[in-house]
Amino acid sequence: MARISPSRILLRIVTRLLALVGNLWIRAQIRRHWRASRPLRPGERVHLEAYFDEELLSDVRIREVRSVSRPWFIRPLALFGLKLDMDFRSAAGITFGDLVLVSELGRGRTLPAALLFHELIHVLQYRALGIGGFALKYVDGWLSHGREYLRIPLEVEAYALEDRFRAGEIFRAATCWSRPD
Ligand SMILES: [Zn+2]
Repeated sequence: MARISPSRILLRIVTRLLALVGNLWIRAQIRRHWRASRPLRPGERVHLEAYFDEELLSDVRIREVRSVSRPWFIRPLALFGLKLDMDFRSAAGITFGDLVLVSELGRGRTLPAALLFHELIHVLQYRALGIGGFALKYVDGWLSHGREYLRIPLEVEAYALEDRFRAGEIFRAATCWSRPD
């Protein structure tokens, strides 16, 4: 029989707690921003049609914000020695379910296609995992990969597909995205 060490149990508890808090925060963000959000504009959509289903492109909502606000739980996390290696306030975009927030840093005259593409990969991930499942996989990925944003598997996947998009490759994102286990 394999014994689980106390530190592993503690890590599991921290992961679950943080995922729960993250889940609640994501839902609060959706409630806060949904009313002021808008659908994709034809000029944004045209760059994404080769990659995503019509239904997803119609459902996605965009909310333009000045900057992404920092979650309230970041400061308490730092007190426990869990410091984030990225600043939410400098994020160009962030996705909550079907809702994509784009900050001033992330938009010019029209929203950059690669940023939207990246965020829509997260929409696909949310749809496959559910909000709670996404939060859990994201937090678990962060804690188990050296707490490095760029090594979180959900981000690794989104950036890898974004690179192919930037290279001009045409593919269906839903079929090449690896389903969660
Ligand atoms: Zn991302």
